[in-house]
Amino acid sequence: MKILVVGAGPAGLMFASQLKKIKQDWDIAIVEKNTVDEIVGWGVVLPGRVPNHPANPLSYLSDYTDIDAQYIDEFCLVHQGEQAKASTGITLCGAERRSLVGALRGLCRDLHIPITYSSPLFDGKDLDTEAYDLIVIANGINNISNYFNEALVPDVEFGKNRYMWYGTPHIFDSMNLIFKATDHGVFIAHAYKYSSTMSTFVVECSEDTYHSSGIESLSEEEAKTFIANIFSAELDQQPVEVQPGLQWRNFVTLSHAKAYEGNLVLIGDALQTGHFSIGHGTTMAVVAAQMLVKALYDHAQVNSALEDFNAKVIPLMQLFSGHASTSRTWFETAAERMDLSAGELAKSFSERREQLPPLPVALAQALGMALSCKES
Ligand SMILES: Cc1cc2nc3c(=O)[nH]c(=O)nc-3n(C[C@H](O)[C@H](O)[C@H](O)COP(=O)(O)OP(=O)(O)OC[C@H]3O[C@@H](n4cnc5c(N)ncnc54)[C@H](O)[C@@H]3O)c2cc1C
Repeated sequence: MKILVVGAGPAGLMFASQLKKIKQDWDIAIVEKNTVDEIVGWGVVLPGRVPNHPANPLSYLSDYTDIDAQYIDEFCLVHQGEQAKASTGITLCGAERRSLVGALRGLCRDLHIPITYSSPLFDGKDLDTEAYDLIVIANGINNISNYFNEALVPDVEFGKNRYMWYGTPHIFDSMNLIFKATDHGVFIAHAYKYSSTMSTFVVECSEDTYHSSGIESLSEEEAKTFIANIFSAELDQQPVEVQPGLQWRNFVTLSHAKAYEGNLVLIGDALQTGHFSIGHGTTMAVVAAQMLVKALYDHAQVNSALEDFNAKVIPLMQLFSGHASTSRTWFETAAERMDLSAGELAKSFSERREQLPPLPVALAQALGMALSCKES
């Protein structure tokens, strides 16, 4: 079996490594658009303690201690200078994206899966689909147009808020949600530690606030200072930092009604993105990758495997999308709740997704089914 994986992010790397472990004689190769050093993003939260949580990609590494992951059990909402604290429900694991992706690439290297860097595949013309039994499209949010097949064009929705993914050397021990009502509108920070020296600091605000505060006309340096000043008390006067490739933007939700066409199949963000406020994108990428591995393990024919994968993954992705959109909308309408106390706001936050079937239960069921492959 000859397989090409497009994209060396968590989805492509998890898929390639886990499949290679059970099908050592299959020919699996990965192409990656960026150079080996270009890995965008600060830290992310993953579920559970390593190595026991199967949806946490760190659980699949032989040595995860280099990652400097940080565990978080407390949630803290800050509003009007008051704090409302609660348990996060499950332990969260903050991890640096660069270390995580680097370690998963190391895992692929150890399994002799070649990764070719600086090799963007931009459209079907670059791709000889007949040269492979299967092509796994795992190129993340970049999969926004009909690069590879018109039948796989996503439904694209832009979020109403602007956001920017900053990092900061201030250590936020809890999962923090900080609301700041200013003369220009409300700024919200999502902050948590992801290493012993750094925290993620994602800031969002409405489009109106983005424009009226003047951020759009500030230089990157001036915008950093402006944001650090708004949150100076919580940041303990520490700066926020930027990374090449990250800028203020609107969140893009990609959704697909079907996960495959012919011998092309989508996983990870390329299949379905979900707003960062539920912190599940990498987890969903890991789960979809495992589900595809299981389908290929169960079926001798690629087409039957893809049909089976599609039937199982699409309902899960629709549930993920429902949770993510509900959460995104809650943040987009946050200004309506600024009269609430910190405790009332925390209650509203925790209730925002209660109308939907719980995502962790669906994830556990999907993973339980997917993880029953044996080496052959
Ligand atoms: C602000 C923010 C915060 C987030 N926080 C969290 C969090 O706390 N927890 C969490 O689980 N998730 C979080 N996420 C989501 C998470 O980052 C993604 O869901 C995850 O990275 C998806 O993995 P992926 O492999 O599908 O895509 P990516 O990580 O985007 O990887 C895709 C890869 O494909 C490559 N590529 C692109 N185009 C091509 C091409 N044409 N040819 C070859 N290669 C290509 C890219 O360079 C990249 O390396 C967050 C996202 C954002 C924006």
